Amino acid sequence: MTTIAGNLFIISAPSGAGKTSLVKALLKNDLNLNLSISHTSRPPRAGEVNGRDYHFISKDTFRQMLQQGEFLESAQVYGNFYGTSKKWINETMASGHDILLEIDCQGAQQVRRTFHQVVGIFILPPSADTLATRLMARGQDSPEVMQKRLAAVCEEVTHIHEFDYVIINKNLEEAVSDLVCIVRAERLKKARQLVNHHRLIAQLE
Ligand code: 5GP
Repeated sequence: MTTIAGNLFIISAPSGAGKTSLVKALLKNDLNLNLSISHTSRPPRAGEVNGRDYHFISKDTFRQMLQQGEFLESAQVYGNFYGTSKKWINETMASGHDILLEIDCQGAQQVRRTFHQVVGIFILPPSADTLATRLMARGQDSPEVMQKRLAAVCEEVTHIHEFDYVIINKNLEEAVSDLVCIVRAERLKKARQLVNHHRLIAQLE
């Protein structure tokens, strides 16, 4: 197990829970969070930019990187490969900054095996109907992938117990505010504060 200086937040959710919008809003609110940009073999969707949304790579390149041990964690989701760069995580951690991973439950399990101080946040949609409507409205996936996403939702939700916090994304503003509160509360935990403010505490003691 590796102990880390900054906070490592993981956000997971079933497809259609609105995780990506929440993460974008959180990052606007909190400039001290560093979002890991995953590598994926999935083709870019309309509007997605290489290096901003994902590092888009071929399946062959992904397999090669996997073999070379370049991923902290990786998973196959809906037929595509996804992975988190070990190098980026190590460098960002070494600088003491807080990190945010937007990954699936399989990936979250792998990360927890390496870092025990992970803070896991699970996002739920307000209802099954909302989830199906959101997925259809997105219209960015083939019907085949849509079916896979819907089928995977039940399986994903069984992992809820592995997380520390659960947010119901009924109202975006409220859900963002919940997320911001979690991040702030984690930063204020005694164990962190004792390390971050050891000089002040020593002076006052
Ligand atoms: P999407 O294709 O909709 O962007 O993402 C599909 C799923 O893959 C989402 O649940 C997303 O959180 C997850 N995902 C994205 N990047 C990674 C990653 O690096 N590792 C893992 N394990 N899952 C990821």
